[in-house]
Amino acid sequence: MDELNNLQATLLECRYNLKKKNIVGEDACPICGVEVETSNHLILDCSFAKEIWASLNVDTTGHDVATLWVLPRPSLIPAAHYNTFLLMVSWFLWIHRNAVAFNSLPPSRARVKSALLDAAPIWRHRLPAGSAVVVDSWCSLFSSNM
Ligand SMILES: [Zn+2]
Repeated sequence: MDELNNLQATLLECRYNLKKKNIVGEDACPICGVEVETSNHLILDCSFAKEIWASLNVDTTGHDVATLWVLPRPSLIPAAHYNTFLLMVSWFLWIHRNAVAFNSLPPSRARVKSALLDAAPIWRHRLPAGSAVVVDSWCSLFSSNM
């Protein structure tokens, strides 16, 4: 893990960081159980996260969570508020991870997408007036391939 830069390693209190602080003994990802759970793994590289992003037509291959905003935007997702879209999906991947790690819930792509679908209308209130069409397109994506 020496190749991790300090920024990426400190983004989230993932298992990699918690193990470094001697808070947990294992640094394996609680979702896939295969890889070390770094911020990058949790949000972009875990097989589970990749499935979520792929279902939204976002290709995360070769990207870094520290520069999340440069993820290529699929044509189905409006350019307006794309950063908010990326942050919302990342946030719900983190919430899902916590549910798996702390509440012993099984990983569930449907649960993540359902949570995104429920949250999008609430997040709409943080966007400028007239953004309803943007959020409607997100909801369409969240409800597809569930
Ligand atoms: Zn994983």
